[in-house]
Formats: sequence, structure tokens, C-alpha cells
Amino acid sequence: MPDPMKKHPANAAGPWYVDVNCISCDTCTDISPEIFGRDGDRRAFVREHRPAEASLFQFAVESCPVEAVGEE
Ligand code: SF4
Repeated sequence: MPDPMKKHPANAAGPWYVDVNCISCDTCTDISPEIFGRDGDRRAFVREHRPAEASLFQFAVESCPVEAVGEE
């Protein structure tokens, strides 16, 4: 499950986050490049908290193969 103690340091402020267990599979960034960005190693982080797109975020939570996408 996502670990709020191991958040990627680039996550935007807000309840949504990606933790450092991301394996750079590109799934969440393909689901929403507006919500998720990639760092120089292609690890994902939350670029922007977009409450109106919560269903897309939830889809990313359910689609991440290593359960690195979470919400506090
Ligand atoms: S879906 Fe999960 S493993 Fe894949 S890029 Fe996003 S956070 Fe990383």
C-alpha cells in the first residue's frame, strides 16, 4: 500500500501523492499527464491536485502495479 512516510519530494501540496516505490511504468502519467509528472528518472509524482478529476486519480490508484499512488 502507498506509504505517506515515503512520498516523492516533488509531490504538490495536497492529499494526493506518489511514494518512492514507483517503478516508472508510466501508467499513471498516461492516465493523467495533468495530475502526474515524471522526474529525471521517470519516477512519477503528483504535479497538481485537481479535485475535479478525482475519478481519474482513483483510476490511477487502482492501476498502479506497485500501489505507489495514495491519498491522505
Ligand atoms: S502507475 Fe505507479 S509505478 Fe507506474 S509510474 Fe505511476 S506511480 Fe509509478
